[in-house]
Amino acid sequence: MTIRLKTREEITIMQEGGKRHAQILSELASIAKSGVSTLALEEEALAMIKAMGDEPAFLGYQPSGAKRPYPAALCVSINNEIVHGIPNEVERLLKEGDIVSIDLGLMHRGLITDSAVTVGVGVIDDEARKLLHITKLALDKGIEVAKPGNTVGDIGYAIAQVVGGSKFSLAEDLAGHGVGYSVHEDPFVPNVGEKGEGEKLVPGMVLAIEPMLNTGGPEIKLTKDGYTLVTRDGSRSAHFEHTVAITEKGNIILTSGSEGI
Ligand code: MG
Ligand code: MG
Repeated sequence: MTIRLKTREEITIMQEGGKRHAQILSELASIAKSGVSTLALEEEALAMIKAMGDEPAFLGYQPSGAKRPYPAALCVSINNEIVHGIPNEVERLLKEGDIVSIDLGLMHRGLITDSAVTVGVGVIDDEARKLLHITKLALDKGIEVAKPGNTVGDIGYAIAQVVGGSKFSLAEDLAGHGVGYSVHEDPFVPNVGEKGEGEKLVPGMVLAIEPMLNTGGPEIKLTKDGYTLVTRDGSRSAHFEHTVAITEKGNIILTSGSEGI
């Protein structure tokens, strides 16, 4: 395992990138209405990234084990889709009551931030509202313990504690990760962990923390496109993610916007 720590200057650059990142996600969340296509979200993201002079980090990225490079800037995952839904290959329109996860990787001045938000399309039912709330809470609690002296296991423990108190489950095998020079770096940041277990957190680490919660069981399944992960039982899933820098004093949420997403 090689953990590449970021300098103070690099974290400052990532903070500026993260601010832009939050702006884009906020705009995409606001246009995710009934009748809007996932392709329209992708095109808006590309236009905003270009206007900012930045680059989409997921487009062309080939994760280990994937058979082809990822073909879009965004992952747009609707309802039973957990993560890595492709927005520009099959025509899909958002409809009233859907929940949609929008995940973006942004490269600003050579450094990458990774953040996702799940939003409801129009009026969503009580279970969906609760799912979004608990997933966001799990992320917040995970971030709270992301500080020097703690470990990646403490993050997983905090997340799993929140989920354990709900009727939802954590999508199996999926986890957070280091981020910055590339989309996925060490360390592995589990969503289920033991206190004090695993890599110790030190200033300069930059982590993408990302709980993914299902309304049904934890089992996941890869679809034919080679990227989209869905719940095996067809239940719905939500995903919130922030890029967080560990500092001497605690942490900085690099991708938090002014609108609280
Ligand atoms: Mg992401
Ligand atoms: Mg990520």
